[in-house]
Amino acid sequence: MDLDEVLDKHRRAGKILAEIKDEVRDKVRVGVSLLEIAEFIEGETLKRGAEPAFPCNISIDDEAAHATPSRGDTRVFKEGEVVKIDLGAHIDGYIADTAFTVDLGDNSALLEASRKAVENAVGIIRAGINTSEIGAVIEDTIKSFGFRPIVNLTGHGLDRYVQHAPPSIPNVHHQHGAELKAWDVVAIEPFATDGAGRVSERGGAEIYSFTMQKPVRSQHARELLEKIAPYRTLPFAKRWIDMKRLDLAMRELERAKVLHGYPILKQDGGGIISQSEETLIVLEDGCEVIT
Ligand code: MN
Ligand code: MN
Repeated sequence: MDLDEVLDKHRRAGKILAEIKDEVRDKVRVGVSLLEIAEFIEGETLKRGAEPAFPCNISIDDEAAHATPSRGDTRVFKEGEVVKIDLGAHIDGYIADTAFTVDLGDNSALLEASRKAVENAVGIIRAGINTSEIGAVIEDTIKSFGFRPIVNLTGHGLDRYVQHAPPSIPNVHHQHGAELKAWDVVAIEPFATDGAGRVSERGGAEIYSFTMQKPVRSQHARELLEKIAPYRTLPFAKRWIDMKRLDLAMRELERAKVLHGYPILKQDGGGIISQSEETLIVLEDGCEVIT
């Protein structure tokens, strides 16, 4: 497929996400259910002619990513919470990825730190820039607000049906980065925190992706493989799958390493996190934010 068509598909996916973000921002309120917001976002993505590139992530306070409601989840947003909403859409595998934070308490400076970090990164991105320059600007911006970046979460490239493709774009000063080229499609996603600035996997997973085809014996495992085939290598939510003996099938495929689970990423030692993310196309003399 030629480059114009590819970029057009990224742009259409991005425009759909931008519209949904506008609509959903005011819906995230105390007492509203997390599941309702996730289903609204994923449903609107489909209605507008794209598909979710991954389950809507709703991560609260010290959670950074990979949290999504379970089937029948009854949790609601509570006073004081810092809510990260991360949404993705793709058309024919060409992805856009964006995130924003809603403050249900008193954390406006923390939100501004990650927002401004994206803005400043976007301001310097053009063909030929090294990711080390981007990381430096992000870290310096977040620190100027008195917060820390999360050091082990990064921005990334977006390839067809691959949400986290090279190059990785660290949110901190680093050596030996990669150079961005014109027409690269990348996501910039800084996380700012009042905590230590490092996350690790905790607890069970609600999000999975297919890794590789292997022969599987049981009927239910084969049924699950058929159900997830449309997602290809993109992440999907357990709540998207409706079948008997789902847990058994998931366990079997995970043990066989046919499926990879993504446990929630939580900050070590606690601390509140804000996130801001945009997808952009690198141009010779700047960049085009598509979300
Ligand atoms: Mn994202
Ligand atoms: Mn991303």
